[in-house]
Amino acid sequence: MWWYGGVGSTLALTTAFVPDSGVRLVAYLGAIAHLPIVALVATKRYGLHRRWPALVALVSALHAATAVTQTLPATTDTTIPIALGAAASCCVAAGLVKLLRNRHSGGTAGLISDGLIVGLGAWVVSWVVFITPLIVGHQHSVLSMSLAALSLPTSALTLYLVVVLLFGSGVNARGLMTLSAAVMVSLAGDVLLQLVNSHQAGTVMVRAALPLYVVAYFLIGAMFMHSSVTRLGVPQSNHGTQRLLGRLIITTTSLVASVIVLAASGPQSIGDALVRSSSAVVLAGAVTLRVVQSVRANSRTHDSLLRDAHTDPLTGLPNRTLLLEHINACVTESWQLNRQPTLFFIDLDRFKNVNDSLGHEAGDELLVLVAERLRAAVPAEATVARLSGDEFVVLDPAAPSTSVTMALAERLLAVFREPLALKQGDVFITASIGVAAMSPTSSSTAEDLLRHSDTAMYRAKDNGRNCVALYDESMHERVAHRLATETALYRAIDRRELRMFHQPILDIESGDVVGFEALMRWQHADGTMVPPIEFIPIAEETGIIVPIGSWALLESLSQLRTWIDEGVCRPTATMSVNVSPRQLRDPNFPAIVAEAISRSDVPASLVWLEVTESIMIVEPELALATLKRLRSLGVRVALDDFGTGYSSLSLLQKFPLQRIKIDRAFVQGVADNPNDRALVRTIVAMGKSLGLDMVAEGVETIHQLQVLHELGCSKAQGYLISHPVPAEAMATTVAGLERLGRFTDIRVPEVALVG
Ligand code: C2E
Ligand code: MG
Ligand code: MG
Repeated sequence: MWWYGGVGSTLALTTAFVPDSGVRLVAYLGAIAHLPIVALVATKRYGLHRRWPALVALVSALHAATAVTQTLPATTDTTIPIALGAAASCCVAAGLVKLLRNRHSGGTAGLISDGLIVGLGAWVVSWVVFITPLIVGHQHSVLSMSLAALSLPTSALTLYLVVVLLFGSGVNARGLMTLSAAVMVSLAGDVLLQLVNSHQAGTVMVRAALPLYVVAYFLIGAMFMHSSVTRLGVPQSNHGTQRLLGRLIITTTSLVASVIVLAASGPQSIGDALVRSSSAVVLAGAVTLRVVQSVRANSRTHDSLLRDAHTDPLTGLPNRTLLLEHINACVTESWQLNRQPTLFFIDLDRFKNVNDSLGHEAGDELLVLVAERLRAAVPAEATVARLSGDEFVVLDPAAPSTSVTMALAERLLAVFREPLALKQGDVFITASIGVAAMSPTSSSTAEDLLRHSDTAMYRAKDNGRNCVALYDESMHERVAHRLATETALYRAIDRRELRMFHQPILDIESGDVVGFEALMRWQHADGTMVPPIEFIPIAEETGIIVPIGSWALLESLSQLRTWIDEGVCRPTATMSVNVSPRQLRDPNFPAIVAEAISRSDVPASLVWLEVTESIMIVEPELALATLKRLRSLGVRVALDDFGTGYSSLSLLQKFPLQRIKIDRAFVQGVADNPNDRALVRTIVAMGKSLGLDMVAEGVETIHQLQVLHELGCSKAQGYLISHPVPAEAMATTVAGLERLGRFTDIRVPEVALVG
């Protein structure tokens, strides 16, 4: 690159200082001639568009012609060189406009009309300040003066374009800097030449102008030779308020300058007045055009912002804000028209499974398909909106009767009967729908109606999903109660209101207490005891079960350690702790169990974790992985409440389980109900063949216990043996049970076993 700079400098110095005008001209023409060659080579090397070398060649030729005509000894009329120079400036400006268009694709309309205003402003100033005095003095032909007047606007326009290019956003500053420097330097040359042309100044000025052009040619050549030239025309983002501000300042300045110039001087002749007024009209037209453009662009932006703020980008459905507006409108109208706006709150069942197993892209695809189906299923006047995630809402503005409403709800449920065809294959999904209608007598707001339908949807979920629930007032009370419980539960941990009770597990054959089940209680400050059925489900929903469950585990294992140490129970006695699905889903759970074992110093072999089958059915892979990790710690796993759900044999084979707990529902009927007895017999036989330990839950009578013993069930727990008791009562409970001996030895003459 140094050699290139050297050649450039030599030629520039030659055009400035060599006395012989012929040598100067040759040096100048040489500098011009090299540029198209460099541009052509760069085009070949970097694969640029052919318009660029063509433009360079054209401008170079015009400049060469200008120089030649200017220095011809016979030339007295400056019209030709001025015209050639003006044509070259126009070409440069056109090239810059093209470059700007490429870089700011789609957003150049405003840019060009701003340029037009700047150019027109400069034209007015140039006409009034420079040209009119010369014409009035009859020094030059009108044509040559008009052409000369053109050069200021084109220069101003070029300057403006360069400023916009330079201060515009985007990368590739180096190429742009070189280009801008070249344009600026050549503009300085233009100004000098104009002085020469308009004032007939001697060749001294030309001597000063030519080296500037040479420098400009070599700068442009350098730009073409650098690889960054390929990125010059790459589209840039259109952000940047700074750029807008800069444009505004330039445009306003040129506008104000031209207005001041027009106002400060009167027209010198009729021709002058004509030019002034027509220029003012064109300028006013350009400004009006620009204002119209701005207003249009603004309203377009406003519309698109409004659209974005009101629609869900994934499905294109109205979002919560727009839905609330629609409901509000319906609610207001409902008073006047005696209508009954109705909301259907649709929540997809287990949508998380789709996201987790097939990925978020498939989840999005499914949501879009659901949106389409819902839209097709509702009447034309209804609105379908997406609130968030997998929640959709249908607003029927005027449902005539409950039966029509329920019919629509059924239709919405039916939407999910057909499989949804995703790219990855067909997927079945169901939905739970909550329905709430605006009663003409109530004063509910749009928010209330939405909340009611949401509440009803939760009822549908509680009812087993894939169903519809209609809102009624009692649901609201339930929700309020739930909310109060939830809030109080958070405080319960800090206030130490949670306690562990324990229920002994008996070996039926020997009558020994072989273990305990830990059961949580929530004791309010006033002493009332809340059973787990009331707060465990809420704790699960909110996730608070995770810290509570960890606490329960450590508390129970520490308790077992104390009992063993104090001789309350045998050193081989076990502790069974209930674990909820939410805890099993927590990736930290095995670590929490390991920590509880080590902190309580209880051997892992004495720990039973009681799990229910739901997680094994819903998320079998996750359940299997977690249970394996737990097994590797040495703890054992019991399947709680066996017989109530699917309870399939495959579950017992597939998962690492070591115990079955036969649910109370079957134990209760085992003495009197032949069906229950047959079922328990089957479960016991099945469990035994798989080598599983068997515990019967909820044994309340001696008859039940004896039948269970006969059927081969080895262990039992229940009110017959002991209620769950607080820790401090366990010593007497166990002592009492040991004194009692084998329950099976107790004679119960009235038992008549059948079946
Ligand atoms: P579960 O694990 O099946 O516990 C057995 C339930 O049956 C206990 O109810 C117990 O008090 C009750 N029970 C025991 N013997 C009899 C009987 O002879 N007759 C009758 N009618 N009931 C009997 P509880 O304590 O109300 O616990 C209910 C459920 O709450 C438990 O069922 C368990 O699923 C859950 N739970 C209790 N504590 C915890 C805990 O710490 N963590 C978790 N995740 N769940 C817990
Ligand atoms: Mg249990
Ligand atoms: Mg149970």
